Amino acid sequence: MMDFNRLINLIFLLLVRQIFAQSPPAASITAQEEKRFISKVSQVNLRMTVRDIVQCGNRLGGTVSGDKSVKYVVRRLKGYGFDPEIVSEPEQLAFSDVHWNIRIEEPNRLRGLIQHEWLAGYSPSVREQRSSLISCLSDTDLDKKKIDGKAVLLDRHPSDQTYKVLVQAGARCLLTYEPVHSSAYSIYAMITNLKASKTNPIPVYDISTYAGERLKSELQKGIPVTIKYSSKCIVAPGHPKTVIATLHGTGDGYFIVCAHGDSDSGGPGADDNASGVSGVMEIARLLKGLVDDQVLPPPSKSIRFIVWGSEVSSSGYYVRQHAQELQKIAGVINLDEIGIARPRNCIYFEGNDAEQNHDLLKIFENIGEKYAGQRGFWKEATTNPLLGGLDSHVFLPKSLEGLGLPSVGIPSITIFTAAWNEPKTVAQTEGWRSKAWKGKSDSIVIGYSPYYHSALDLPKMTTDKEPVDMVWGVNAAGLALLQLMWK
Ligand SMILES: [Zn+2]
Repeated sequence: MMDFNRLINLIFLLLVRQIFAQSPPAASITAQEEKRFISKVSQVNLRMTVRDIVQCGNRLGGTVSGDKSVKYVVRRLKGYGFDPEIVSEPEQLAFSDVHWNIRIEEPNRLRGLIQHEWLAGYSPSVREQRSSLISCLSDTDLDKKKIDGKAVLLDRHPSDQTYKVLVQAGARCLLTYEPVHSSAYSIYAMITNLKASKTNPIPVYDISTYAGERLKSELQKGIPVTIKYSSKCIVAPGHPKTVIATLHGTGDGYFIVCAHGDSDSGGPGADDNASGVSGVMEIARLLKGLVDDQVLPPPSKSIRFIVWGSEVSSSGYYVRQHAQELQKIAGVINLDEIGIARPRNCIYFEGNDAEQNHDLLKIFENIGEKYAGQRGFWKEATTNPLLGGLDSHVFLPKSLEGLGLPSVGIPSITIFTAAWNEPKTVAQTEGWRSKAWKGKSDSIVIGYSPYYHSALDLPKMTTDKEPVDMVWGVNAAGLALLQLMWK
């Protein structure tokens, strides 16, 4: 027979076993860390960062406003306890607008018509002048006698060739607009760029579709229109600058969490991409704080938080500079346009047709499904195929091979809530179907921003209106990093 004490000990041991069998300690720690991270994300901080960045100007790589935003990002990261590095890249031609003005003088009743216009990139500086406006309806209707000395209205964006012909015919400036568009640019300009050159002879003013169509109809009725305009710009070579701040890990290799720091269109770029930069800085602030406060141990690998000076060109420079040690990059999480979500409250994880992204995107898909519909989170979440032209693509085999670099199979994804200026439906990659996607199973509707590359990509139209979208981006990336680096 068993004595009483032994019996008590045995019951105690069985009870302890039972408790551990029911709740594995690792899982409860993860849930706690996730909760703690989520609770610390600051919407106020995210919004403020976007506003500060947009105030710097268009932030194109190699411009004064680009350098200004680099200084801002560095100062903030230092405040979080980082020791950021600034990488100065090879010189390239860069465009900054200092100021411009374009107004209708006559007829008087149209004086307030031009609003939310923008000066096209690589326009030259011109002193204030007046010109009468004529309409040019097609590229075959370029009557030189009519054009000489006039400002020309185009109901489309000119090709390099049309610009050249109009200049040769003596046009003084161009007013251009996006043809009627289903979801954007009705009362604000889509921003365009001339060929990058120091010697473009005449300025181009991008105006809204409404203003353009109204002017076209006045001119067709034979009503004379006079405009007054000026521009002051700097077109000069400059060095794009990329900021890198590292959270040091215990093991070899590192993860990149990045966003492009320029507005790429040359506009205010609140959503595209001050929102992404703000997200990267918030993730950096939170993870650094948790490690410094010893709430978390150092990560198993380092995390490099990177703000690219110039979209795609700076990440291209980075991979070339690190050609001998690309295998050290364990993965890339890029944030691009997380400041507005239309038409669905959906977060997207891009690149499911790239084989090496499989495991990383499965982590994001699980996070997307776990949190969909919870308070403060996305209503929908999905992965999607590669769409093109992002910093994350630079790290994928096709791009590395194109640059003559070793293709080392780096998982590299982008998180976004909007792409382009209208919703587009793309085929879903076979084998990928998120439970958090409520649309069709074989296709994905890609979210868009009505302010994409426009004069109104401002905080008040995007990130101040929908700050929760940035919170989604930070939570998705942060929770994935917790799983990847602190497992
Ligand atoms: Zn972008």
